[in-house]
Amino acid sequence: MRKHIVAGNWKMNNGLIQTKSLISDLKKQTKTSDAEVMIAPTFTNLWHAFESTRQDDIEVVAQNMHFSENGAYTGEISAGMLKSIGIKTVILGHSERRAYYNETDQDLAKKVDTALANEMKVIFCFGEELADRKAGNEETVVENQIKNALFHLEADVFKNIILAYEPVWAIGTGETATPDQAQDMHAFIRKTLENTYGNEVADEVSILYGGSVKPNNAKEIFGKPDVDGGLIGGASLNAEDFFAIVNAF
Ligand code: PEP
Repeated sequence: MRKHIVAGNWKMNNGLIQTKSLISDLKKQTKTSDAEVMIAPTFTNLWHAFESTRQDDIEVVAQNMHFSENGAYTGEISAGMLKSIGIKTVILGHSERRAYYNETDQDLAKKVDTALANEMKVIFCFGEELADRKAGNEETVVENQIKNALFHLEADVFKNIILAYEPVWAIGTGETATPDQAQDMHAFIRKTLENTYGNEVADEVSILYGGSVKPNNAKEIFGKPDVDGGLIGGASLNAEDFFAIVNAF
């Protein structure tokens, strides 16, 4: 049975004081669903977030990491550094990193390899831009993003990969893919996995949807059979909204 997962990507929001306050609000929420809960604070607050949620059903994950193990990469963070403070999962390939920091599929393939070599899990993000969808190319774009960054992997490591389909036009825009658009793409992604890796892998990989998921639309999106959870940006900055989404399963 694949897992339900709801992950909050805090992006470059919240200093230490706000992080403490949001975590304390999150701890007051009650989880009524079977979804695994993850939060991704910024690097400087990972240690605090990790320490203060040790006893809770919340996993703290990183928003990014470098593909090298160490070295002269000023300003970067390695997998080993994340692991040294207890972080076991990293988000890779977010569209903001692809757009603003020119992360390519090839860079991401290296990052995925480094994360897996360090026994970390990866939330791998991908998704088409509006122009791709308007041109009817969304499936080709998504297929290439997945193939280029992931399809060199052996089948048995896919247990450490969580996919996050995030149409770029829906991120932070308030515009959500309809539940049917999300389901169609998730089913296509699962079929693509099945064609290369077979049924078992395709059935086991959780595919999250991301793009303006809010308390008022989560239930309908999560109700689709191939949507296994969400990667949540804006709404993850409010504990009640975030848990309303977590509990939408
Ligand atoms: C995201 O950044 O991954 C995201 C889905 O953001 P939002 O929920 O704000 O659209």
